[in-house]
Amino acid sequence: MNLNQKIFIRLGTYVGVILTLFFIVYQIKYPNIENLYIYLIFLAIGAGLVLALFLEYKEYFSRYDINQKVVDSDFLVKELDRVNQELKDKDNQLLMMSSFAGQGIILINNHKEIMYANELARKRLSLLDTQSKSYINQIRHTKIKDQINRTFMDVVPYKDTHMIQNKNLEIKTIPTEQSKDQFILVIIDDLTEKLQLQTIKKDFFSYAGHELKTPITILRGYAELIHQEIITGKEATEISAKMIDLADYMKGFVDDMLMLSRLETFTDGPLETLKLKDIILNTIEYFNNAIKEKQIKLELDLDDILFEADPMDMQKLFKNMLENAIKYNKENGLINISIKKVLNQIVFTISDTGLGIPFSEQDRIFERFYRVNDKRKTPGTGLGLAIVKHIVNKYHGHISVESVENEYTKFIIVI
Ligand code: ADP
Repeated sequence: MNLNQKIFIRLGTYVGVILTLFFIVYQIKYPNIENLYIYLIFLAIGAGLVLALFLEYKEYFSRYDINQKVVDSDFLVKELDRVNQELKDKDNQLLMMSSFAGQGIILINNHKEIMYANELARKRLSLLDTQSKSYINQIRHTKIKDQINRTFMDVVPYKDTHMIQNKNLEIKTIPTEQSKDQFILVIIDDLTEKLQLQTIKKDFFSYAGHELKTPITILRGYAELIHQEIITGKEATEISAKMIDLADYMKGFVDDMLMLSRLETFTDGPLETLKLKDIILNTIEYFNNAIKEKQIKLELDLDDILFEADPMDMQKLFKNMLENAIKYNKENGLINISIKKVLNQIVFTISDTGLGIPFSEQDRIFERFYRVNDKRKTPGTGLGLAIVKHIVNKYHGHISVESVENEYTKFIIVI
């Protein structure tokens, strides 16, 4: 029965009851036997209508449950909507949390349809936006589809790594059962950074070990000679000077490694407003002896520039750049240093008239431990430019090099 019919019956019932009552009152007041039949007909209609009214109210009262709570259809629809919304919110929260946890998550039902896929999963697997919900149509990587298929068939979890868009993704496919239905939960983890870090760490320790092993062996040999008095007097003094050099080299190497690890873990020191010109002049002062020894001429063009940075970073940057310009320079060579502000950016250049860098090596000199294999055997760790590059990156800058072998080398840093 629809709403209009209900209203019609209800109105009819009320009108009928009122007419019947009116007729009864009229008959009592003006008894007329001729109207008795009409009276009885009205009475029957009235009784029928009262019965209809009673039945309707009975239906109404039956909508109350034992706790007298209304459970009519409107209420049920609203309640269902609310529960649905709550469930949706919970799903969204769950998917959001999984995204924050850095995992891509996909849930596939037993009809092989994707029921959920969070943002990370969509991005990592570049899920296709098709009408079809089928995972076979949405996932484009055959190997992942095979893995899901195997999980459906064998009902055991599988774990595999897949190279997708240069990313190393670990995919876990886990069978789950809910209300006797079979689901597959796909969890996607990006291991790229973790694996890269592992390789870097491995290389780092093997290089560092190798780099320190030789000086330690030599140092021990010298100490042994002096201890057993095989070498004495002037010779011993000369050897101890070499030992000091070796110890200095090892200290420099360990300092550089600590600096690199400080830069990589982003443990920032406090930022200060620095006068870059003063730091450069102090660095020149620090290398004064070496500059004089090689009789190097300096040309300076330094503007007064203020820059917000960790002082340790800027000191290390200028120190490493100037040290190389001296170290790889020729006797009586020239070093030109300039710092300027160009269009709101700081441009620092340092050039020397030294040995230069072969073109084929210019890309690689910023890698850690990379040293150009020259015949001069200039001492160094191969960490200096790697540190400079890290510092430049930290301040969202850029470093480039121009060089011609045996002519000049020019480094340009823009921050
Ligand atoms: P290190 O100087 O300790 O070897 P760096 O990381 O500072 O390490 O430099 C990497 C390599 O780049 C050096 O081994 C050197 O061959 C080359 N290089 C750096 N600066 C210069 C320069 N000014 N002139 C020539 N070669 C340079």
